[in-house]
Amino acid sequence: MTGAAASLPQLSRGSAALRVSTSRSLASLASRSAFSLASSPAARASVLRSGTAVRAFSAQSCQRSTRNASPKACQPLHSQFFSARRPGTPGTIIPITSPATAAAIRNASTHTEKVVETVASKAPFKHLIFRGLAWIGGSIVFIGLGVVAFFIYDYNTYKEGAEHDDISVSNLALNPRRGGPKNLPLYEVQIDDADCDERLRTKDKPKLVILGGGWGSVAMLKELNPDDYHVTVISPTNYFLFTPMLPSATVGTLELKSLVEPIRRIIKRVNGHFLRARAEDVDFSYKLVEVAQTDHRGKETRFYVPYDKLVIGVGSVTNPHGVKGLENCYFLKDIDDARKIRNKVVQNLEIACLPTTPDDERRRLLSFVISGGGPTGVEFAAELYDMLNEDLSKHYPRLLRNEISVHLVQSRSHILNTYDETVSKYAEARFLRDQVDVLTNSRVNEVKPDRIIFTQKSEDGTPITKELPMGLCLWSTGVSQPDFCHRLAEKLGDAQTNRHALETDTHLRLNGTPLGDVYAIGDCSTVQNNVADHIITFVRSLAWKHGKDPETLEIHFSDWRRIAADVKKKFPQAVAHLKRLDKLFAEFDKDHSGTLDFGELRELLKQIDSKLTSLPATAQRAHQQGQYLARKFNKMARAAPGMHANEMIDGDLDAAVYKAFEYYHLGSLAYIGNSAVFELGSYNVSGGLWAVYAWRSVYFAQSVSMRTRILLMMDWFKRGIFGRDLVSF
Ligand SMILES: Cc1cc2nc3c(=O)[nH]c(=O)nc-3n(C[C@H](O)[C@H](O)[C@H](O)COP(=O)(O)OP(=O)(O)OC[C@H]3O[C@@H](n4cnc5c(N)ncnc54)[C@H](O)[C@@H]3O)c2cc1C
Repeated sequence: MTGAAASLPQLSRGSAALRVSTSRSLASLASRSAFSLASSPAARASVLRSGTAVRAFSAQSCQRSTRNASPKACQPLHSQFFSARRPGTPGTIIPITSPATAAAIRNASTHTEKVVETVASKAPFKHLIFRGLAWIGGSIVFIGLGVVAFFIYDYNTYKEGAEHDDISVSNLALNPRRGGPKNLPLYEVQIDDADCDERLRTKDKPKLVILGGGWGSVAMLKELNPDDYHVTVISPTNYFLFTPMLPSATVGTLELKSLVEPIRRIIKRVNGHFLRARAEDVDFSYKLVEVAQTDHRGKETRFYVPYDKLVIGVGSVTNPHGVKGLENCYFLKDIDDARKIRNKVVQNLEIACLPTTPDDERRRLLSFVISGGGPTGVEFAAELYDMLNEDLSKHYPRLLRNEISVHLVQSRSHILNTYDETVSKYAEARFLRDQVDVLTNSRVNEVKPDRIIFTQKSEDGTPITKELPMGLCLWSTGVSQPDFCHRLAEKLGDAQTNRHALETDTHLRLNGTPLGDVYAIGDCSTVQNNVADHIITFVRSLAWKHGKDPETLEIHFSDWRRIAADVKKKFPQAVAHLKRLDKLFAEFDKDHSGTLDFGELRELLKQIDSKLTSLPATAQRAHQQGQYLARKFNKMARAAPGMHANEMIDGDLDAAVYKAFEYYHLGSLAYIGNSAVFELGSYNVSGGLWAVYAWRSVYFAQSVSMRTRILLMMDWFKRGIFGRDLVSF
């Protein structure tokens, strides 16, 4: 390098013209490399000032050569070389005086390119290292700042001294007066009514009492305007449970706490009050809810909570179908159920490992039976299989893997029978592959402590009774009404005709109660689809009003159009069945008279009735109903001053301010063991792990709070890295 540098002064004095052939790209590359390699600030500055690679190289050569030679040695070279060039870009004409000079230039130029190439080939690598180090340094600083910020925040969340403020609590709250039909304490004023300004603002607002803290109630609480009602939630559990992921908590894929959100945190938004108690009864004429709870002496205590509006969202209980021995089964409705199942599964695995456990007993302990092939049963079977397949072999003796069996007993001919047939067939094929034993057309008759007895229909339809040893039996065979709802239905007599749920009208008002007082949402309720009865009563009254006998009434097509419009308004679910009014009219005009008589109209409406199915008992429905009620109540609160001014206090106020409830089915999904199925309207999608990620994303988005979302993420991450926690508490 030094030699090359030394020959360059002579070149600059040449007089012949020669085009310097350093390419622009090479020049810039060398320039960058030279910059990164230059060790002193002066050298870097020099490189920055120079516009070409040659300049950069010269600056660098100068730097390096000074290590061996005197600083002045490169000075002439540097200045003369540059002075030989005319100002301009590469390709500048340099006068050359002799052929020797030209050759020297060529040699020097080739040498320069070679050196530049060497520098260039090393430079990107070093450059990358520099950038990498810069990124790492930056990230460390960033994370460090984050940690410091967190500690500063965390430090401020601790309280040193207790707050000692005067608290204003009404005497009526501390010593409630007694009253109502049973002369129980009346909880008219709550002990935290005057706790803060926000609470004081709602103190005298209409009392809205919500029974239950499940899907329906929470959807309502999240949508309700904060200052419109004095809200009280009554529930025996003080958390909201995210049920769709409950099967994942039974085997440790998710932690129990990731699926629950404290109800007090949710009601804070509406400045609400919470009572951890169980609703036992409702007195509709006194507008009182009778509530029971165990008091400080461990005895049951009862009191009344008054309401202006009552929302019943107490959910459902597992349907026992009258089967004997259900005390030997496990259920999956609540977080405590999930905890019990998890403990039992792990306990069975541990006992199966003991040297004293005989072979057949080991097989029994490792035989897991699920009664019910609906989404809950299928998802539990899938989760159980995943756990046994992925974690068992890692931590337990391999023998166990060979002796484990999972059996799914389903009374119908397919599992997931409420889904499209392709979806249930996909799930069955998947289970067949995973060796999950699907027993269709089978009905459990009795559950003994160590086995189930069931009947399976053979191919020719003959029932065959069989026995299956089991170490755990999960009972998940549909839902039925809680006792509380039974009691209310009995009280309301003829207004309640459904044995499985409380009947409401399409505005979700409980049938048989004063209009606008009591509503029912979610699993505990069903929307009555009595289109025929409703319209016939309507037509009858219309006929009598016009002095006509309804039985002799002739309905023209224009009348039918008006009737259909009324049906659509009151029963939005019927819209789909009232599309071709002319066709329907013609179909039921049996005598082709061009009019419908009363009997023909009744038949037509009955047909529509029969097509309206009852709404599914799902979180999706409960959520939509909760949102619907909240929006309606918000509107009613806004309309209230005007209504009072116009003395509109009675009548169908709900219908006056808001439309009837309409359910939109957004689709169904189910997890079936490292794969998932989606039913989206007329489209069915099923797939492996990508579908599982999509399934998780849906529930991640639907999760009730950021807290639960973060916990879910951490659980999935933990499962991936460390596997499931196979421990029992
Ligand atoms: C394991 C499992 C998985 C599920 N998966 C799905 C799914 O993937 N998709 C889907 O759409 N649906 C699913 N569901 C169904 C869904 O959870 C229910 O449809 C939904 O919870 C119904 O909501 P709800 O508000 O009516 O009642 P719930 O959510 O059951 O809430 C009822 C509330 O009422 C309280 N309560 C009970 N009795 C009383 C009383 N006497 N007084 C006061 N409060 C009371 C309870 O403590 C609870 O807080 C699943 C259910 C289970 C059990």
